[in-house]
Amino acid sequence: MNIEGMLRYQGLDRELNQLNEKFRTSDATVQYNRYMKLYKQTIEDGKRMSGAIGEHFVNIERLTKQYEKLIAEIDEYYKGVDEIDDLKQADYYEKQLLKLYSSLESIEKELDNVRKELVKLDADAKAFFSNVNAYFMGVKKCTPEMEKVKSEIQSKAKEVMAAQKELEKTIEPELVQKYKKAKEVAKFPPLVPFDEATSSCMGCGLELSKDIAAKLRQEGGLEFCPNCNRLVYRQ
Ligand SMILES: [Zn+2]
Repeated sequence: MNIEGMLRYQGLDRELNQLNEKFRTSDATVQYNRYMKLYKQTIEDGKRMSGAIGEHFVNIERLTKQYEKLIAEIDEYYKGVDEIDDLKQADYYEKQLLKLYSSLESIEKELDNVRKELVKLDADAKAFFSNVNAYFMGVKKCTPEMEKVKSEIQSKAKEVMAAQKELEKTIEPELVQKYKKAKEVAKFPPLVPFDEATSSCMGCGLELSKDIAAKLRQEGGLEFCPNCNRLVYRQ
């Protein structure tokens, strides 16, 4: 087994991780992500705001219909006033009218509240447009520098990956396959030595079972650690 080759391959993986980290933490990327996050958050806030505005307009429509209905009812009552022929009936009409006017007043109040909410939302909407614009400009301003850092790092990464591809040809496919399996699930580094003295995985320090340790002591022994899922090899 070409463990040496696999370890060199792992070293190149480490370089790739470092390049990724360098990109992630570069000033250009941090700035870009900061503006992008603010931009996305503001868009989400805008969606919520637009939902709230929509609800207010549905309310206005409902209240306006109720208002019109009451006005029509009041009209009907006035038409009936001519036909009142006793005091008792007059009293009844007056009470009904008062009720209708009081309903009308409460609808007016509700409409006024909606109007106030909309005025507030209008101010929020103005702030929204100014923020979205500022964050978008921020993203736009940071993009070229971030793209520059990205392409520099990507070209270095491409070289490393080309070296890995060449190296892979010299390693047994079975070993490469096991390494890649460990890399998917375990913390870096996925390939670690077996500590013969303590019969343990040098990735996590777990003392391996007698069965696994015995297999590792055989020629070309290569086992997965049941604790950290790393691939353990005998030095
Ligand atoms: Zn382990």
